[in-house]
Amino acid sequence: MDIDGLGYTPDSPYLIESGKRVGKCLELLMFKDYPFLVWFKNERNKECKDPNRMNKMHKHLIWLLAQGNTRKSSVVCPQCGRNPITHFSVIRGKFGISISANHICCDNQNCKEKLIGMAGGKMPEILPLKFWVLDYFSYRSDQRAIANLFRKLFGLEERLTREKAFEFFKR
Ligand SMILES: [Zn+2]
Repeated sequence: MDIDGLGYTPDSPYLIESGKRVGKCLELLMFKDYPFLVWFKNERNKECKDPNRMNKMHKHLIWLLAQGNTRKSSVVCPQCGRNPITHFSVIRGKFGISISANHICCDNQNCKEKLIGMAGGKMPEILPLKFWVLDYFSYRSDQRAIANLFRKLFGLEERLTREKAFEFFKR
């Protein structure tokens, strides 16, 4: 289901109406429990694939997860000093991942190679600044570290309210 065929543009954040997570805001869960949103969307997709029959939460989830993969950072690439950043590097270790707000770069191949050079002989993974990455790591602590890095790189470091998160994803 792609977002264009959905015919849905929300005008406010979505709060879950029932169940264990009642009252939770989907936009904030993008940072706090992304894998749950993916799982939930997949469950709903099994029940219904027709946008005309989907309920609002289902549509909102599809919209939100798609938006999470098209956000842009205005941070300038520290490697070339020219383009906005699009990637960050992750080193997997025994005790979880290591990431840093300095180990970021634009889409330029030279910049990505510089990042690899900065990893001190280890082989980093150069990943895009897209929310799907949060579902690519299974440990909660790793997901949390990446979500915090995203907040920093997307200019959302201050207390994140529902409205602020919604504006960010709607942008
Ligand atoms: Zn660059």
